[in-house]
Amino acid sequence: MKATITVLPGDGIGPEVTAQAVRVLEKIGGKHDHDFTFQEALMGGIAIDKTGNPLPDETLKACEQSSAILLGAVGGPQWSDPTAPVRPEQGLLGLRKHFDLFANLRPVKAYPALAQHTPLRAELLDGVDMLFVRELTGGIYFGPRQEQGDGLSAYDTELYTVPEVERVAQVAFRAAQGRRRKLTSVDKANVLASMRLWRRTVVKVHEDYADVELDHVLVDACTMYLMTRPAAFDVILASNMFGDILSDEASVLAGSLGMLPSASLGAGTFGLYEPVHGSAPDIAGQGKANPTGTILSAAMLLRYSLGLEAEARAVETALEQTLAAGARTADIAPRGGSFVSTGEFAGDVLARL
Ligand code: NAD
Repeated sequence: MKATITVLPGDGIGPEVTAQAVRVLEKIGGKHDHDFTFQEALMGGIAIDKTGNPLPDETLKACEQSSAILLGAVGGPQWSDPTAPVRPEQGLLGLRKHFDLFANLRPVKAYPALAQHTPLRAELLDGVDMLFVRELTGGIYFGPRQEQGDGLSAYDTELYTVPEVERVAQVAFRAAQGRRRKLTSVDKANVLASMRLWRRTVVKVHEDYADVELDHVLVDACTMYLMTRPAAFDVILASNMFGDILSDEASVLAGSLGMLPSASLGAGTFGLYEPVHGSAPDIAGQGKANPTGTILSAAMLLRYSLGLEAEARAVETALEQTLAAGARTADIAPRGGSFVSTGEFAGDVLARL
């Protein structure tokens, strides 16, 4: 297959981790006779420094002409003034908006070898393998809001429409069909009208996916279950704010922020793939970054934008074998133990591919 992938390395450790994911994509592409073209473009703080714009037109054009985007991370102390008119994260929000990327997919897996890096007992982590599907472009983060002039009150609005819930629910049901066929929809239907609409709509969409088992969990209970029985979850569907909070809570199950990938998808196959972590300025340029989140994001790109399931699995398997064999970057190394560099870790994954 022929595909063009736009790489947006961004800031901090972004260039270090995307370089390793590109090596992995080149290797798997070569092995399976795919013709992958990579084009790099500016986004985030580096784009502000070079062009004054966190998302230059040229970058947007490059993304429009590609099958998918692989992104590192954006931001850093030099661009952190909250009153600045242009900020690195505007580039990321601009991309999500431009391509209407309404579904954010975040898999969370617990690796037995990393159990000591989590606050949970090892036996609770056994079999933890869940996928969050978070609504990304609606809800309270985008609803009508106001801070009253007297400074004594303010409001934000949780507003959802049926089509907004339908389209993200469809993504979640389809994802469940490719996994263990279990979907947990999170809401607060006992209190919020918007969440009663959410539940009603998910139940309706379920009619088209009868092979998937659906259950509903209130968000407060869900926070507990994520810690007390995390292995029971398969796909978790949640609104923008609930998904934001719950997926961060669940990220501790993976042992390090550096382990987690994500995909942001719209109506078609086009997607934006990036690790969950930020630009980690504290370790940038030192070869200490864990490239796992970005390599697993590249696997998601193969799966969701290019439809290459076998290739995606091959990457995931190579990565799991690398961890099982004991390779560790600094963030997942035992206290005082030895660790390998970003490039060495990825080299180990390549060797296993
Ligand atoms: P961060 O995720 O960059 O770092 C948090 C901690 O985790 C740091 O100690 C860091 O060293 C460590 N870490 C993160 N990724 C790692 C990896 N791959 N390997 C090993 N260790 C890793 O979060 P932060 O420090 O709050 O933010 C730093 C900058 O990143 C800020 O400017 C923030 O705005 C930005 N940020 C960007 C994104 C994004 O681009 N999507 C997301 C979050 C934060």
